Amino acid sequence: MAQIIQITNADFFVRHHLASGDSSHNEVERCQSYVGDAICDGGPIEWEYRQPYGRLSNDQLANMTLEELEDSEHNRLKFNAFKVCDELTDRINGAPAPGGFMKAYTSVPCDEMFFNDEDYVQDYLHATKQKRKSLPGANYFNQVMSFVETHFERGEKYIEFVKFSCTKSEVCAFCSTHGWVGPPCETVPKPYPNYEADGFHYRSVFETPVEVDGKDREVDDFQPRKQARDHVIEGNLDRDEDVKGFCDKYMVEEILL
Ligand SMILES: [Zn+2]
Repeated sequence: MAQIIQITNADFFVRHHLASGDSSHNEVERCQSYVGDAICDGGPIEWEYRQPYGRLSNDQLANMTLEELEDSEHNRLKFNAFKVCDELTDRINGAPAPGGFMKAYTSVPCDEMFFNDEDYVQDYLHATKQKRKSLPGANYFNQVMSFVETHFERGEKYIEFVKFSCTKSEVCAFCSTHGWVGPPCETVPKPYPNYEADGFHYRSVFETPVEVDGKDREVDDFQPRKQARDHVIEGNLDRDEDVKGFCDKYMVEEILL
């Protein structure tokens, strides 16, 4: 995500995950349902494009080591998997979806990807801080990780990037050399209960405070599921009046707790 932002020079980027159980309101799940419809078109899906050892003669087979046989089987499965993906791509590409038609692609194998640095990233992440400095790609990985630390806000169900959010320390090299593409923006205010309205409502986004008692709001400060979990861990939801107080504050029906 950080790499995509730096390459595309995005001003704002958010990845939001909605809770399960609300499919009809969830665009991602609705799209997945359309993908399912496109794939299940009634036609069979061929899997065995390449048969086990089908391209090898008996002599060749007899002379192969166990390792070579395993490699051959691995390559066969990989070949078949990509052929199946091509078939699925053909079915999904151009199929109807909410608001238009879908575009589908088959990715290239990991070892042919442009960002083929998974092994190096893993080595870097598992090394001590001291050892990291001598690992391949250390400067680049360090630059990406510090970009994430200074520009991203993470909640239980979202991760949000806004350009220039590094200014709490000092403007980083990326922001100072790229600047805003569109109008400057800020993070989206997170839902805040509307205690004046009847029923369970949040305030309009334009009336949602970003500060409470003069302090920036904490991440997920009114996210009921996150707060409920924290309250349980701290033993603050044991009594009936605790539950009642929680429901009033976080706008939750008691039955849902
Ligand atoms: Zn920055």
